[in-house]
Amino acid sequence: MTDALQGERAAEELKELAERAGRELEDASAPEILQWAADTFGRKFCVSSSMEDAVVAHLASRVLPGVDVVFLDTGYHFPETLGTRDAVEAVMDVTVITLTPRQSVAGQDAEYGPKLHDRDPDLCCKLRKVEPLEEGLMPYTAWATGLRRDESPTRANTPVVGWDEKRQKVKISPIARWTQHDVDAYVAEHGVLTNPLLTDGYTSVGCAPCTRRVLEGEDARAGRWAGRGKTECGLHG
Ligand code: SF4
Repeated sequence: MTDALQGERAAEELKELAERAGRELEDASAPEILQWAADTFGRKFCVSSSMEDAVVAHLASRVLPGVDVVFLDTGYHFPETLGTRDAVEAVMDVTVITLTPRQSVAGQDAEYGPKLHDRDPDLCCKLRKVEPLEEGLMPYTAWATGLRRDESPTRANTPVVGWDEKRQKVKISPIARWTQHDVDAYVAEHGVLTNPLLTDGYTSVGCAPCTRRVLEGEDARAGRWAGRGKTECGLHG
């Protein structure tokens, strides 16, 4: 059997494993879902975090101490987000891995012109988020996200465990069924670090040029790429 065929078969088996786990763990608690991930993938499992809060990182560190937490430093983050990353690294039993784009913001400006985020946010996200994450996830078989079904209509069908076709990896969303209330309760109970911007009118925190405070009655992600006809950065599509 060629390496390519072997790879295809391994991916097919992983996909079946992910889809079966998604069905079987649909009603499981977040710790149970993460325990399954730790038992199944060990150190080949990581958590991705935007440093909006450290809820999933905290949950994962309880079942897999020292778990890798992957953070994308786009070069456009609010200082509060970088501060949250540093605090998580300092106080939690996790290993923070900061991924950076191939080009600095200055390098990107020189090649594509300034403020690419205003003119072509899809390309900017591709260069500063999608490609670095793709490379950064290469050592892992499975990754966890903090996606929740209640965040926006585009996330309403998020499985707790699914198959990430684009990256050929198992994608775990242990708090997919949680509400904002569940997150707040977990943060309060465990004293989990959160981004200070969450108490300053932001309900979803991304890059500074593409994030604004939300207005009364808007959904949690309404402040992301507001007015630009874009709702996701391409990491989860
Ligand atoms: Fe660029 Fe905005 Fe995407 Fe950040 S969120 S990578 S600044 S387009």
